[in-house]
Amino acid sequence: MLKKLFILFLFILSINSIKAQNITLVNKGHSEYRIIIPKKANSYEQTAATILQKYIKKISGCELPIVKDNKGSKQYEILIGLTNRTKDDIIKHKKKTLGEDGYYIFTSDSKLLILGGSGRGVIHGVTGFLEDHLLCRMYSPSVEYIPHKETISLPFIDDTQIPPADIRIVHTEFTKDTMYQYFRKITQIEDVWNDGNYHGYYVHTLPRIIPSEKYFKSHPEYFSLVNGERVPWGQFCLSNPEVLKITIDNLKEQIANHPSIKYWSVSQADNYYQCECDKCKAIDVEEGSPSGAMVRFVNEIAKAFPDKVITTLAYQYTRKPPLKTKPLDNVMITLCTIELNRSKPIETDTSSASFCKEIIDWGKITNKIMLWDYETQFANSFGPFPLYNTLQPNIQFFTKNHVMAHFQQCNGKHSENFSELKCYLLSKLLWNPNANYNLIINDFMNGYYRDAAPFIHEYFDLLHSECQKAGIVLDIYGNPVWMARNILSEGNMKKYNDMFNRAEKAVSLNPDVLGRVKAARLPIMFSAIEIAKSDLFGPRGWYKEENGKYVRKKEMDKMLDDFLALCKHDSIQSLNESGLSPEFFYNSTLRTIDVQVEGNLAFKKKVSCDPEPDSRYYGLGPQLLTNGVRGNEDYKINWLGWEDKDASIIVDLDSVTKINEITISTLHLPKVWILHPKSIVCMISNDGVNYKFVDELKPDPNLKNTTDIKAFTFKPKNTSTRYIKFNLTGDKKLPMWHPYKGSKAWIFVDEITVK
Ligand SMILES: [Zn+2]
Repeated sequence: MLKKLFILFLFILSINSIKAQNITLVNKGHSEYRIIIPKKANSYEQTAATILQKYIKKISGCELPIVKDNKGSKQYEILIGLTNRTKDDIIKHKKKTLGEDGYYIFTSDSKLLILGGSGRGVIHGVTGFLEDHLLCRMYSPSVEYIPHKETISLPFIDDTQIPPADIRIVHTEFTKDTMYQYFRKITQIEDVWNDGNYHGYYVHTLPRIIPSEKYFKSHPEYFSLVNGERVPWGQFCLSNPEVLKITIDNLKEQIANHPSIKYWSVSQADNYYQCECDKCKAIDVEEGSPSGAMVRFVNEIAKAFPDKVITTLAYQYTRKPPLKTKPLDNVMITLCTIELNRSKPIETDTSSASFCKEIIDWGKITNKIMLWDYETQFANSFGPFPLYNTLQPNIQFFTKNHVMAHFQQCNGKHSENFSELKCYLLSKLLWNPNANYNLIINDFMNGYYRDAAPFIHEYFDLLHSECQKAGIVLDIYGNPVWMARNILSEGNMKKYNDMFNRAEKAVSLNPDVLGRVKAARLPIMFSAIEIAKSDLFGPRGWYKEENGKYVRKKEMDKMLDDFLALCKHDSIQSLNESGLSPEFFYNSTLRTIDVQVEGNLAFKKKVSCDPEPDSRYYGLGPQLLTNGVRGNEDYKINWLGWEDKDASIIVDLDSVTKINEITISTLHLPKVWILHPKSIVCMISNDGVNYKFVDELKPDPNLKNTTDIKAFTFKPKNTSTRYIKFNLTGDKKLPMWHPYKGSKAWIFVDEITVK
């Protein structure tokens, strides 16, 4: 009792009269300290003690014993969690203020206290102590920094840290590493929505809850009415009480089997086939948004499970909040930023204004918002993606607007476009949105790239400043070819390569760090390959002219080989969101660069377009159409696009030339709103003023959703001409059979050949 009173007194005294006091945990490799855990320590406290023991040994060589608090108290102790040394009211109250994940580190006389919230807080307390007070670092699961020293002295510490968000998921492959998770203080989907091997309900779950295979035949009325027809495409008639009943019954069963899971998602499928029946429509009108029907539906489910949190999406057609119905307290609304520009902070970017308004408006009716944010380029994970300057302001903006759960989709894999840095920085910002951005970046660069840090940092900074200078849109479906005229201009690429050459030289004797530097260079190599592919015969292309013939540049062949070898060395499995393997990329590149130009009278001939192609699909401009390279299914390169417009294209053969055959290719990729033109008219002229009709061709009208590349061939037969003109008439709006009917349609055009 006396001992307890003494400790109580001691902590009250220390808390009330903070005084600077050093303590020495380890002195010249020796220590009197013990790590004390509660007699009935939970798994968090046990893990926290073990991590602390492990790292103090790594630093000093000294292993501190872990002792339960039923052993008598001694002078030199590190107290983990609520031990019997600290069971006074002030400390108990302090613990309650820490939520699940927060922590409190405090020194008093010769004792060090590390206290955590009800969840992993105590583990975070230990890793926070190791990082902030002993200067250990975990940059990636395989790269840590441990300051080796025989003596560990601490100044007085009074350090409380509570993150603003309860759920902090940084979705990368690194976060599968448990120790890395602890140091980065981040959550995984598995920690929140899953239970062992059972995958809980995370997103787009309604089709799983009410499978069309089971219900559509017998009960089409459960499904959404689209264009007057019930369709089994994963959206439901939410005003139908049977749909609600099936959903609640399904959840009852799942929750009974997996009671430990707190969060359950009831959410729409990833398409726009929402129900258009009279009842659903009436709710949409009353609520000013289809989110009304969804929130009403989800609220009913939340009522049935008051101790669970039901999550749903404000996504696509439900992004605008309802006018009348508010989400219940145990409903969490998930917003997502998929279409937003990444080169400017969301709050200050006018193109993101509608999203900002929506998140602010949702924040007025709920304080439970989850944010699904995107920090990677889905289409080209290895294309440069200089968005780092937006990360902190965006997280600050989300935090200000009641985001209490984050899913940061980085998809980061080892070696992929600074993904180690991205995960490190994001985890720090999610923990503390006001953390010092520059300090974190500097620290990472120095710790991860060592002697190469100044050069890698220079590259990183230049990439970002060039992005700002160019003022371009950074899209998660972007392509490095779009940056060929600014961020990845020939001059900039020379500078970047020079920086990497110096970086590699600086760490040439350290194979581990050299590997990291080579990995950081992959996006520049990938970009050079993609840019060369987009203009095979141009100045940055794959071919050069030698003695009147085009031959492949040896340095480009070598770069492709080196790129594949590095990918293999670093076990890189995919280069984009769809799982494009490095081997597939290598082989398809070989196919693309294997072209024939002989006999093509249009090769490199001047082209003009009216109107000019859209700047988003402009590539090399009109000359792309006669550069000898055919576009493929990757619509982002080797194609010119026009949105919601017809187009007229003229090729000038330089002089009146005898021709037999004219070909122009167009792309039909309905999933990204690209359709063949409805009609292509071909005309020829000797003077460029008076044109003679050759023919009009139309695509197969039954293609609808099928992907297609079509070469339209006109046969003027033994005619001579200088100018060839094509008038392309597009649909302009997506037709009725398309899921996004009425939205703006594109036409995409590529290679024109003349024989
Ligand atoms: Zn309906």
